[in-house]
Amino acid sequence: MRLRCRLRLLWVIPFLLSLVLLAGCEETPTGRSQLALVPDTLMARMGGDAFDQLRQRQPVSRDAAVNRRVQCVARAVVAAAEARYPAADRPEAWEVVVFEDPSPNAFALPGGRIGVHAGLLRVAETPAQLAAVIGHEVGHVLADHGNERLTQQLGIKAVLLLVGLFGEGELGQQQLMQALGLGARLGISLPFSRAHEEEADLMGLAIMARAGFDPQASVALWRNMAEAGGGQPPEFLSTHPAHGSRIEALQDAMGEAEAAYRATTPADCAG
Ligand SMILES: [Zn+2]
Repeated sequence: MRLRCRLRLLWVIPFLLSLVLLAGCEETPTGRSQLALVPDTLMARMGGDAFDQLRQRQPVSRDAAVNRRVQCVARAVVAAAEARYPAADRPEAWEVVVFEDPSPNAFALPGGRIGVHAGLLRVAETPAQLAAVIGHEVGHVLADHGNERLTQQLGIKAVLLLVGLFGEGELGQQQLMQALGLGARLGISLPFSRAHEEEADLMGLAIMARAGFDPQASVALWRNMAEAGGGQPPEFLSTHPAHGSRIEALQDAMGEAEAAYRATTPADCAG
């Protein structure tokens, strides 16, 4: 009797999982299917809170020239990103802040908060190279990568919780394997960081070109990054694809980006 009851309960897990998958499977701006189940308003609030905390801990750059250059590039990049990916959910407002930090880094938080370290300006030598980094960060936001990553982490925890509640011993183990197998087939239990970085690279390339920055500068930027890191890559690159493969992927998409660049008015953020 107990076994039959447990078997009946085990049906609930795949049923719930398939409901969740049907409800939440979406496409990123580049057409990759994605599971991002956390409500956008919640993601934006979490991103905003984290950004506010950072701003309290970390001094903001008061260098007028640096701020002017970063804001000029960011304005052009954000406008181009929204025009290039009109179907993507965009944040209510974008906010780009330069932090007083010597490391060549940049980051994006859900809700459109982008942080640029002052040290990035040593490596991103031209406005176009800066546009490659900011375009990449805007790509992470528009493709909802933060939500996807959190969904993955919560999803794995939810499966473990369900298995813990409804199944014990051998049966529970079997159910867990099934759940993880299902996850693997759908690609949701694989590490996403590399796929995210590659997608953000390609979106960033398309965005910078549309914003009027020479897309070839992206290749120069990643070369500078590699040099700046020496043997030890900067933090920004630690989860990123190897330089060789990322430059190759950029070059594969360069033809299209150059055509888009030629069709726009070049941006002017040199001042
Ligand atoms: Zn990235």
